[in-house]
Amino acid sequence: MDQEKIKAAWKQETIQADVLLVGGGAAGAIAALSAFDAGAHVLLLTKGRLQSGCSRMAGSGMVAVMDRKDEEDKPEIHIEDSISEGCGLKDPALVEVMVREAADIVRYLDREGLPFEKDAGRFILAQRPKHRFPRHLCTQNSFGPHLMTCLGRAVKAQRIALRENAMLTDVHLEDGEVADAWAVDQ
Ligand SMILES: Cc1cc2nc3c(=O)[nH]c(=O)nc-3n(C[C@H](O)[C@H](O)[C@H](O)COP(=O)(O)OP(=O)(O)OC[C@H]3O[C@@H](n4cnc5c(N)ncnc54)[C@H](O)[C@@H]3O)c2cc1C
Repeated sequence: MDQEKIKAAWKQETIQADVLLVGGGAAGAIAALSAFDAGAHVLLLTKGRLQSGCSRMAGSGMVAVMDRKDEEDKPEIHIEDSISEGCGLKDPALVEVMVREAADIVRYLDREGLPFEKDAGRFILAQRPKHRFPRHLCTQNSFGPHLMTCLGRAVKAQRIALRENAMLTDVHLEDGEVADAWAVDQ
């Protein structure tokens, strides 16, 4: 049976959204929250449960240049360190986005209740190998479960439309833009 016949045999449902996010890890959840904040009608679709994927497995923490006036660290230095840490394999354009947005994301997660380690109210920044300045933010135990509990709570609090156990299988483009997408669920 070809794909079109299989699709026709299944019970089908059409969901409209301004923005479709695929993947219920940190990237998908943060993108969904940003699109929601911008006023879009968002659908977050993920093939496992929300909070599955690699994000929940993140063990140690995340790196960011926090805005500390007494430090000489700068995003430009972080970008160099990150590219060198990745043995030149990282895409510099993506590294730049990651570095430039990291501090805002830390502050957002902090406001959302992620329990970063702090001393007298200031983030503790630990040293990482190959980084010239301390910029590693940690939690007391594994970082990923805290991160995804925090983002999962925010997604649910905003009542963002969520489809778990639904796997994207096909995307149709029109004039280079996604016109519709297919997913199968359980
Ligand atoms: C063991 C481990 C430890 C790590 N430790 C750290 C750390 O300490 N610090 C750090 O910064 N990084 C760490 N990383 C890397 C970090 O976890 C990843 O870079 C990050 O989680 C990627 O986030 P993501 O949202 O892009 O992907 P993921 O969290 O993997 O999310 C992808 C999501 O997409 C869904 N998906 C995939 N295909 C489909 C489909 N066809 N349809 C629907 N859904 C789909 C998956 O089910 C999943 O939910 C670690 C990674 C691992 C594996």
